[in-house]
Amino acid sequence: MKKIGVLALQGGVDEHIAALLSASEKISTPIQIVEVRNPSDMDGLDGIIIPGGESTTISKLMERAGIFSKVGQVRKIMGTCAGAVLLAKKVQGSSLEQRFLSVMDIEIERNAYGRQLDSFEANLTTVFGTLPGVFIRAPKMHVSGKGVQPMAFYGNDIVAAYQKKLDKHYLAMTFHPELTTTRFHEFFIKL
Ligand code: GLN
Repeated sequence: MKKIGVLALQGGVDEHIAALLSASEKISTPIQIVEVRNPSDMDGLDGIIIPGGESTTISKLMERAGIFSKVGQVRKIMGTCAGAVLLAKKVQGSSLEQRFLSVMDIEIERNAYGRQLDSFEANLTTVFGTLPGVFIRAPKMHVSGKGVQPMAFYGNDIVAAYQKKLDKHYLAMTFHPELTTTRFHEFFIKL
């Protein structure tokens, strides 16, 4: 059985666990889910999800927990919103004390749709069809390297992308799929 971790230091942890559970049921693929807080929680992980939240806070808490580099080494990583910020190789609007995993060839503009009050819902054009998307103080994503495949758009903006780099797989979303659909979690489990 595949073992998938959900980084459980801050942000939308429970929502991702619920989405993973219903995704695994829908595609009849049993998985083991681990809440990751300590280095020992990471033993034997096949993949990890970094939830949305606040990327500076998540990066600091990962360092404090002694798992920062370990998380970056997991072969399959899905990052939503703050998680996508952490995956990106280039980040505009980063704070000084913030560190990044810098593994995926995307460029991120933090808080590019405005402040918390400007959060919104919108229909997205995705590889799985039209799906509702929730954007909470969301960043904008730009593809900055070869082999990054867009998976969802809001208007002309890429809001989900997938990259395979040798034996590593990265999936980044600027919105919160865990709130509206299991399709991206199903895709991640199938990876
Ligand atoms: N704006 C947040 C950040 O840059 C991300 C917001 C979210 O994850 N919903 O960390």
